[in-house]
Amino acid sequence: MRILLKNVKTLPHLLGEVGDQFIAIEVLIEDRQVLKVYKSITENIVADKVIDGRGFFLSPGLCDPQVHFREPGFEYKEDIESGSKAAAKGGFTTVISMPNTKPAADNKEVVAFMWQKSLEVGLCRVYPTGSLTKELKGIELTNFSELKAAGAIAITDDGKGVQKEEVFYQAMKEAQKLDLPILDHSEDESLSMGGSIHKGKKAEEFNVKGIDPASESVHVERGCRLSGETGCHYHVLHISTKESIEYVREAKKKGYCVTAEVSPHHLLLCDEDIPENEHGLNANWKMNPPLRSAQDRAACVEALLDGTIDAIATDHAPHSPVEKNQNIEKAPFGIIGLETAFALIYTHFVKNGELSLSRCIDLMSFQAGRLFKLNLGRIQEGALADLCLFDLDNGFEVNEDFFASKSKNSPFIGQKLFGKTMLTLFEGKVVYHNL
Ligand SMILES: [Zn+2]
Repeated sequence: MRILLKNVKTLPHLLGEVGDQFIAIEVLIEDRQVLKVYKSITENIVADKVIDGRGFFLSPGLCDPQVHFREPGFEYKEDIESGSKAAAKGGFTTVISMPNTKPAADNKEVVAFMWQKSLEVGLCRVYPTGSLTKELKGIELTNFSELKAAGAIAITDDGKGVQKEEVFYQAMKEAQKLDLPILDHSEDESLSMGGSIHKGKKAEEFNVKGIDPASESVHVERGCRLSGETGCHYHVLHISTKESIEYVREAKKKGYCVTAEVSPHHLLLCDEDIPENEHGLNANWKMNPPLRSAQDRAACVEALLDGTIDAIATDHAPHSPVEKNQNIEKAPFGIIGLETAFALIYTHFVKNGELSLSRCIDLMSFQAGRLFKLNLGRIQEGALADLCLFDLDNGFEVNEDFFASKSKNSPFIGQKLFGKTMLTLFEGKVVYHNL
């Protein structure tokens, strides 16, 4: 099957060339791959199907280093199929899925199930991760080589920090031997103390238990240090504080194999933005790590712009309305993010000139893929045809009906954004169509 994608524009950088000005291209796709990229209007190309891209911006398919697809165990929140649909709607063709399912992905059977299920669904590449400890309890290491053989692309106890340094150290030594990255949800529970939001003005004002920002940075310091000792690739998930960023910056200067991702909500919101509802503070603004102070948010933005941050991750964490529509201290942590991520970054950082569109796409594809040694993020002959089209010019409003996810727990409902997805192709197959 040959598909010709006509009438689209892209940036030479995304073709693997030099240049940051839009150029018109046509792309011929054969089966799963890009067969040819034409930089002039062509005629007489034989194709089974022609798609008119209506002049929209063609991007490589995006890659998200951190999503929660909840299957097995919490299918009422999301499953691999609905999560993949949300990914496709956001322009994502590759996602890395976290192991805090039920049962947890601490054994080869669950990891193999996740991989197999994602292949059956076939809307997105969903790479599973294996948990670092059995049942994510932080005590006994899992069998990393078995998890890797079953398809795990990385090791993490995401959802929980690993409390014991010795356990984390042994994990890093083992992961280094197997060439697996360790993804760290950095949280020292002796400092986060069961809090719900950032320990700051808002927590004080509403008498809500606060989470000390040091609970993150002490673990980031530990991870950076142990990466230096073991040579293991240490990746900080959803970084959110000024101090954590400083540790990453220092580790990078020393040449350690340390990387970090940031989530759109930590770039755009802080604790003081949490609005009220009938239950007190609105739990759709509750996630872990929490929305931090204005200074932390500014530090995340600075780190994104100066290159300290390697990738953008949504930490897509669906929860049902019943779970979220209650007192903020009772509601679970997490917000969804796949459908809004590109539009948020485009609207708030690219459109105003702070971040170039090339860098934005690299942070969300090429560089995100590189964390896992995946070769993604370029529109090139021979590459898998993971492509998406974005409308950069016409605004749209995010409302509850907008989401393909089973859940709607987003603090961005009501925002007017630019960068709506118009089409997503996953390995040459149309998986989302809005043209
Ligand atoms: Zn986490």
